[in-house]
Parts: sequence; C-alpha cells; structure tokens
Amino acid sequence: MKRNILVLFGPPGIGKGTVGKALSEKLNLPLISAGDLLRSEVKENSDIGKKASAFMNAGSLVPDELVFEALKKRITSSDAKEGFLLDGFPRNLAQADLLDCVLDSQDHYLVLNLTGSDTVLIERLSQRRICAACGAIYHLINMPPRSEGVCDTCGGLLTQRNDDSPDVIAHRLEIFRKETEPVIGRYRKAGTLRTVKADATLSETMAQIAEIVGGN
Ligand code: AMP
Repeated sequence: MKRNILVLFGPPGIGKGTVGKALSEKLNLPLISAGDLLRSEVKENSDIGKKASAFMNAGSLVPDELVFEALKKRITSSDAKEGFLLDGFPRNLAQADLLDCVLDSQDHYLVLNLTGSDTVLIERLSQRRICAACGAIYHLINMPPRSEGVCDTCGGLLTQRNDDSPDVIAHRLEIFRKETEPVIGRYRKAGTLRTVKADATLSETMAQIAEIVGGN
C-alpha cells in the first residue's frame, strides 16, 4: 500500500509537536514522536528507557539503535499502514539511513523543514508547559491554559520538561546545528524538502503547510 509519510524537521522549540498534532487531526494520520516514545520508555522504566534517560536529561542524542528500536515497532503498527507523521526523527545522517530502510519506493514522502530564529526557539521552550497526563502542549503566553497549571483537555497537572532548562536548551540547539542540520542537504538533494517559516502563529504555519500538502 502507498503510504503518506511526512517528516516534521526542525530545531527544538520550533513547534514540531504542536504543528504535528494539528496536521495529524487534519490528515487523519498518526503522529509518531521519537521524543514521546522515548519519554514513555523512561516512564515505564523499560530497558530502552533505562539506557536513554541520562542522554535525554543532558539534552544529547540517544544512541541511534535505541531510538530506532522504539520507533520501528510504532511505524509498523496497524494504525500507521496508510502513513504517519514523524516528529524528531531522523536527527542525524545515520538515522536518515535507518529511515530509508523502512521506506518503500511506493511511499509518498515529504520533509517539512520548519524554520525560525534562535530567539523564538528559546522563548518558546522556556514558556512551554506539558500536561503530565495527556501530553498536551501549552505556551504560557501564546497558548495558555484556561486555569493556571491545569490542562484544558484532561485536567492533568502542567509541568515543565527537565530538558527545557536554559543550559540544556543551549546544548540541544548546539546538537541540532552540529548533528541534525546536515540532514537537510540530503533531503534537498533528493527533492523531498519543503521549507516552512514557523516563527509566527500556528495558523500562519498551517496555511503554508496546506499549500504544500493540499487541503485547507
Ligand atoms: P524531543 O521531544 O523531540 O525534544 O526529544 C527529547 C529528547 O529525546 C532529545 O533531546 C533526545 O535526547 C531524545 N531524542 C528524541 N528523538 C531522538 C532521536 N531521533 N535521536 C536521538 N535522540 C532523540
């Protein structure tokens, strides 16, 4: 079967999770987030989780084979057979190779390269709050919850991610520039890269994406 695969590519804080959720509802495709998969492995204290947690707390990349092990199970599950959205994978050239191995020549495949300035990224990451129960993402100024500290959707407690502290944010941005950004050249060459300016509002970002993937 021909799958519809969209990779959400971009630095931490650019909004891959927020855009991914909106796009997932619009296109009716599951959103598969490498970071969320790893965080649930850590929560379950699985073998993968135990090995991954120190890397994640430091804002470094988890070893490729561990991430891929968690991801492969999810990509091949039945709800992803018509396609999926990928958030946070690939994050280096070796991971791009791993992803190529699970793609089929029939798949319709695009990489949405979300871009924005470091000032916007740092501001978004430091104002970000996550629901501990359902994972919903808030921004204290641009997308605040109706009542402080409480998730609108499920009533769960809003928390700040361990790795959203200023020193870890700086390290994550550095890793992005060094290890992740070089992947762009490869997709540009393959003709699958589409660049989207994602530093304004969600609806402006979604409007640009609609022009690329179709629909309103
Ligand atoms: P994210 O939720 O995408 O910001 O990811 C949070 C953290 O999970 C990253 O800082 C890494 O430690 C780890 N992580 C997520 N995706 C990957 C990946 N593709 N490769 C390696 N580590 C990853």
